[in-house]
Amino acid sequence: MSAPYQSPIAPGRSWYEDSVVRPEYPALDGSLDVDVVVVGGGFTGLSAGLHLARAGVRVAVVEQHRFGDGASGRNGGQMGTGQRLWPMEIEAEYGFERSKALFDIAEDAKAHLFDFIETNGIDADLRRGQLSVVHRRRYLKDYQAQVEDLATRYGYPHASYMDAEETADRLGSRRYFGGIRDTGTGHLNPMKLVVNTARVAAETGALLFENTTVERLDRREGRIVAKTAAGDIRAERALLAVNAYGQGLEPSVDAHVMPIGSFIGASEPLSEPDRVLPGGESCDDSRFVVRYFRKSVDGRLLFGGREAYTSAAGDIGKHIRKQIAEVYPHLKDVRLTHAWGGSVGITMERLPYVRSLAPGVTTIGGFSGHGVMLANFAGRLYAERVAGNRDRLAEFERLRIPAFPGGRRMRAPLLFLAMTWFSLRDRL
Ligand SMILES: Cc1cc2nc3c(=O)[nH]c(=O)nc-3n(C[C@H](O)[C@H](O)[C@H](O)COP(=O)(O)OP(=O)(O)OC[C@H]3O[C@@H](n4cnc5c(N)ncnc54)[C@H](O)[C@@H]3O)c2cc1C
Repeated sequence: MSAPYQSPIAPGRSWYEDSVVRPEYPALDGSLDVDVVVVGGGFTGLSAGLHLARAGVRVAVVEQHRFGDGASGRNGGQMGTGQRLWPMEIEAEYGFERSKALFDIAEDAKAHLFDFIETNGIDADLRRGQLSVVHRRRYLKDYQAQVEDLATRYGYPHASYMDAEETADRLGSRRYFGGIRDTGTGHLNPMKLVVNTARVAAETGALLFENTTVERLDRREGRIVAKTAAGDIRAERALLAVNAYGQGLEPSVDAHVMPIGSFIGASEPLSEPDRVLPGGESCDDSRFVVRYFRKSVDGRLLFGGREAYTSAAGDIGKHIRKQIAEVYPHLKDVRLTHAWGGSVGITMERLPYVRSLAPGVTTIGGFSGHGVMLANFAGRLYAERVAGNRDRLAEFERLRIPAFPGGRRMRAPLLFLAMTWFSLRDRL
């Protein structure tokens, strides 16, 4: 029997891969003319392909490996609310109006995802509820203010403040000091979402290709040419939806979107599942190097975090178990059946990087750990732009996202130093 498929661009086999059958799509075989070529088959690329096809645009989505092998099929599955930064933080930089516009887009993204799952009858293990909890007392005031602000100024009534008692009850752990309960959002199985988005896209008429690497983009006789080993894809427009995995394809994406490893362990089904997150919410904490966890539909603990791991799955599991034991001491000996990682595409400002790079060439990515709802929606917004309906993507394009300092050679070491500093600060 051949070994189970393993993403060639990320360490460890994820539990999600064992939770769903992933239909294979053909590799490109020969050259092709389309209106739009989309490079990258994660949430962004597949959603763009689907919505372009729905608008009657001839589109090809090209993935170098299998759909979902990047971040989209391997993440924590938590949708969250708003952008990766809190509205107050965005307001400090851009003022209330733009912060509210970005918040409203995120709410539209959430509604879009709920609606997409429902209207297409998708089984994505969607569950409601999210807890954001505080690991240092000094953050409590900010969390309280955030709830107040969301309700009074951002028109968001679904968040409530939890004191230490309520937090302990809802988590099944006394490790945190308080937090926010958000009943307006949820969490899901991301690989099931990828598989079904691809299915709906193909049914709608998008041309989907796996195991096909776009080596470079050229321009010939006014058309964009995506070069692959199997042939050229000629198009009027190209969308680069390569996120943290497009290293070398386009220098400006490399300079603005950096890969940061994040790692998850899945336990065997818990013997006493109600002792952990009895309300079934997902949870993330106040660390800069965030820890995030939730239960799967079959009662496993899916626990994510990041330290300076090697990429060996055994090593990932060892560190994740240590973090689980800190939050849930009774699970110190729990067996992990899966341990895996992936690259989160982050930007300097922790807000998405959306740019028109050249006539007809757009890039979308850098959701900074907040792409479950935003990347899916950004794909749709791109399709709206191409179809000439609306241009809500412009709100992202206006954001000031500087390149990471250090140039091509020093960028990664400088980021590593910065992350090490922040993870040290998390412990203070
Ligand atoms: C471990 C982990 C946990 C996370 N947890 C959460 C979470 O709980 N909530 C949340 O909101 N976000 C989370 N994220 C982030 C989220 O997964 C991403 O924001 C989102 O999936 C980005 O989607 P994307 O389509 O832009 O990129 P990706 O899914 O990374 O897709 C990019 C694709 O482009 C392909 N590609 C690259 N170069 C080429 C090429 N030259 N030719 C063809 N194809 C190419 C890659 O193979 C890849 O499949 C997490 C990420 C990770 C890694």
